[in-house]
Amino acid sequence: MPAKMFSDGEMVMGRWPGSQLYYEVQVTGYNKSTQLYAVKYKDGTELNLKESDVKPLNYFKTKKRSSSQQRSRSRTRSRSRSRSPARTQTPKRSTSRGRETKKTVQKEEVQKKDLPAAKFVPQENSTINRSVSVTDHKEEEENNTTKKIYRVVEHKIRREIVTDQPGLPYNLRTKKEEGKVVELETKDDHLYIKKQVEGTHEWEFGGRIGVFFIMFFLPIALILLLLMCAQEDASVQNFPPPIPALETLWSSTSLGIFVLWFLFQALLYLLPIGKIVDGVPLANGKKLKYRINAFYAFLLCGVAVAAALYNELKLIYIYNNLLQLAISSMVFSFVLGIYLYVRSWRVPADELAIGGNSGSFVYDFFIGRELNPRIRNFDLKYFCELRPGLMGWVVINLGLLFAEMEFQHRDVPSLAMILVNSFQLLYVIDALWNEEAILTTMDIVHDGFGYMLAFGDLVWVPFTYSLQAYYLVNHPNELSWPVALMIIALNTVGYIIFRGANSQKNAFRRNPQDPKLAHLKTIPTATGKNLIVSGWWGFVRHPNYLGDLIMALAWSLPCGFNHIIPYFYIIYFTCLLIHREARDEHLCRKKYGVAWSKYCQQVRYRIFPYIY
Ligand code: NDP
Repeated sequence: MPAKMFSDGEMVMGRWPGSQLYYEVQVTGYNKSTQLYAVKYKDGTELNLKESDVKPLNYFKTKKRSSSQQRSRSRTRSRSRSRSPARTQTPKRSTSRGRETKKTVQKEEVQKKDLPAAKFVPQENSTINRSVSVTDHKEEEENNTTKKIYRVVEHKIRREIVTDQPGLPYNLRTKKEEGKVVELETKDDHLYIKKQVEGTHEWEFGGRIGVFFIMFFLPIALILLLLMCAQEDASVQNFPPPIPALETLWSSTSLGIFVLWFLFQALLYLLPIGKIVDGVPLANGKKLKYRINAFYAFLLCGVAVAAALYNELKLIYIYNNLLQLAISSMVFSFVLGIYLYVRSWRVPADELAIGGNSGSFVYDFFIGRELNPRIRNFDLKYFCELRPGLMGWVVINLGLLFAEMEFQHRDVPSLAMILVNSFQLLYVIDALWNEEAILTTMDIVHDGFGYMLAFGDLVWVPFTYSLQAYYLVNHPNELSWPVALMIIALNTVGYIIFRGANSQKNAFRRNPQDPKLAHLKTIPTATGKNLIVSGWWGFVRHPNYLGDLIMALAWSLPCGFNHIIPYFYIIYFTCLLIHREARDEHLCRKKYGVAWSKYCQQVRYRIFPYIY
């Protein structure tokens, strides 16, 4: 094993990942097994770097820039620099136009045209070499000590400003190309892969003990909720509800129905209909392909359910066996969790999730070790996220609607039941219609697939999100039309915010150059991605959560105010989204460093304007 070259505490030059820029950093540690140096940048960003990305302080000699180098310095470069963690000021431009050659004038013209959207990148066909030289330095702070920021250019890489004009010594790549560049840079960058090999350092959900309790608590909480809801008086004063005999809780038929439903959904997922799209580049640089056909699958499900109803299949079975179905899905998700954990030991390290790789069985089983477990092209996480649970929720709601008609001797469902069913149907259809948007969410990009997500997708969503409809079967609430209209208006407002925010971010992440998004203000970040600071994302830092919560309230209101049970969803969901927001905030701060702090300064509230 090669000897460690730098000692702890030593000031060195560290490459900023995904770029050729080197900054003064302090070595804070060294991992022998991965041979990575832990370093701290001046802005506080902490990263692990390969030894080849760390150079001694005196490795770069500061050269006075020649006039031609000065000329090549443009706003383009300012932008490049401004993406660095050490960057605090925008450099002033000082070119002597009188001495410019014809070629340079031509170059400047090109730059002017594309200027705001340009960045420096190495050409792909360049000879890769590690030898470097300094091209410029800049005074950053006053205070007696002058701190210098070094901009380093690889010698044998012919780093050029990419233009479309052949023959020019520089290439100027427009922002349009930026996505591709980032992708290439990400691929080149083994920083995150190494992190995964290192294992999880940060424990969430209270660590091993926390997740151990959550694993038992959630199923018990769900069973109690369903039992409470089934009581004639669902008041909390009647807590705990009477527990039925254990043998009545289990039904092999219910398990069979659940498994058949799962397999039916899997079959629909495999149908060769719908386009295939690329996921976002993952931390290991890979991009997975996904088939987008959830909406078609939903339509086919609708046809299947309609055919079943036509053939007098009684959906009321769902109401009569809701507890047994829920327990069956719990057993199924537990077995799935075990399978996911076992198979995760056979995948390469760079396919593990950063968060679920702690070495503790309980913790990793819960969080999920493997990021995107697949059986050939069948992506288990992506499949479970939107299909069996979400579509199952709609079918459960429908079964409860029939149950209400039967038990309350109605010819038509109550207005309250129609609202609850319609709002939630809209939510599910929206998710399925915008299936592609899920590819940029935390669940897909960051979280591993383990018991937590399996339970959430297959058990928690269908059986707790249908609580309002379940409640209404036994607790009728007659709504007047004016009240119903107010609730509809509330749901519409929530939906507009939710959809507007999600679509805006999704469109921006897919194509930052989309002319429809040209009005948005953004902050550049060191990763190459920008953060939106206007529009929905300038309103609060998680406008999509705000919209979601407003809708959650609209789903509960049709149930009236007699009991708290139908409000369980909004209470739980508020806690979930506040916790999720904190997790995301933490991840974004690590990812974007100073840029994220700037964003937080500009957009002060997290979810609720002027409150939180
Ligand atoms: P988001 O869709 O909000 O994604 C967060 C990511 O967006 C960040 O990690 C960051 O990723 C990017 N981002 C954050 N701020 C900005 C910005 N200003 N500009 C550009 N990009 C930004 O998170 P979720 O995955 O948690 O939620 C997705 C949707 O699902 C939400 O509407 C949520 O309400 C809903 N949801 C519903 C649940 C339910 O049970 N009903 C449960 C959980 C979520 P990057 O920069 O890397 O792109």
